Amino acid sequence: MSPGPNSAGELLQLFRTGSVATRSEVQRVTGLARSTVTYKVDALLAAGYLVENGSIVDGRGRPSTRLRVNDQVTTILVADLGATHGRLAVANPAGEVLVDSVIESSIVKGPEAVLAMVTQRLDQLLEQSGRRGSSLRGTAIGVPGPVNLHTGRVARSISMPGWDDYPVQDHLADYFGVPAVLDNDANLMGLGEQRRIYPNAHQVLFVKVGTGIGCSVIIDGELLRGTDSAEGDIGHAKITGVEETCSSCGARGCLAAIASGRAMVRELRRLGHEVTTTRDVVRLARAGNPDAVRVVTAAGQELGGVLSTAVSLLNPDVVVIGGDIVHAHEYFLHGVRETVLGRSQPLATARLTIAPSALGDRAGIIGAAARLADVIFGSAAVDAKIS
Ligand SMILES: [Zn+2]
Repeated sequence: MSPGPNSAGELLQLFRTGSVATRSEVQRVTGLARSTVTYKVDALLAAGYLVENGSIVDGRGRPSTRLRVNDQVTTILVADLGATHGRLAVANPAGEVLVDSVIESSIVKGPEAVLAMVTQRLDQLLEQSGRRGSSLRGTAIGVPGPVNLHTGRVARSISMPGWDDYPVQDHLADYFGVPAVLDNDANLMGLGEQRRIYPNAHQVLFVKVGTGIGCSVIIDGELLRGTDSAEGDIGHAKITGVEETCSSCGARGCLAAIASGRAMVRELRRLGHEVTTTRDVVRLARAGNPDAVRVVTAAGQELGGVLSTAVSLLNPDVVVIGGDIVHAHEYFLHGVRETVLGRSQPLATARLTIAPSALGDRAGIIGAAARLADVIFGSAAVDAKIS
């Protein structure tokens, strides 16, 4: 079957977005002849992309077979690696997590050590899930650095020493024998939030505040990509008057040097508190410690200052704040909101929602599943397989 306008792969996208559920709806939406629709939909059924899903009575009183994307019996492996820990899961392309697990994986140990741990744990999870290896169709992984989409390698990254140009995507594809996808962690987390929580939003701006700070922009359901994969790297935007040194890039005055989890840890340690990770900072703030509340709120305000520029530029519907700090969102978001609203034009914020991540720790793996589903069920992959 030749790909092109209204190819089988393109018809599958209509089912994926919920625009159609029956053959007659495909005919109505595309204007294709009945025989053509039957031929292409049958090919999608035969290849296992669609399954029958009961029947409905159409407008002329005739029963019509309902069809849906066959994403539940397909198994995928997903991983969301942060600077200090990661979440791994066996899921399906609909983003339903079958079994998951958290690993402590310091990204600075380098690709060989970290990926050996990741693949071993994913193997164990696959066994636990009860899914057969033969149902495995792909794997997707997020990492806390810029990713070259064309090569599937980590682009030059200051926060991932030893990973530069490492073929992460090929490593996973070779190991599991299925297609693999590599992307930036904030991109996947933002995509997860957008697809699951804000499917109708025109623009979602997602910010991950973990050890560092990263962000992503999703416009009409698609990730905004930069020229050299450095999109969303707002952690190293310079703040006037800030003298602190950024522990990841070494420069002075980076946003991450005053508003990241690492910066909050450093400030609280200076004040004599025993904290090591962002999660420790969250615990202290939630316990009402005045130093922690002040430090977290101030960090939110500093992030808000940079975000007000992004909000003025993009005019998004939603700004979602994720990462470990989200568990102290009452203080952190208060700081963000105050500054964004105070520094932006009223028209840019009139309908703006600033919300904590609804998916929390699972945003990355749900986004990884969505990203992989776009590949596995994308028109190009489907047409290549069916033709
Ligand atoms: Zn920096």
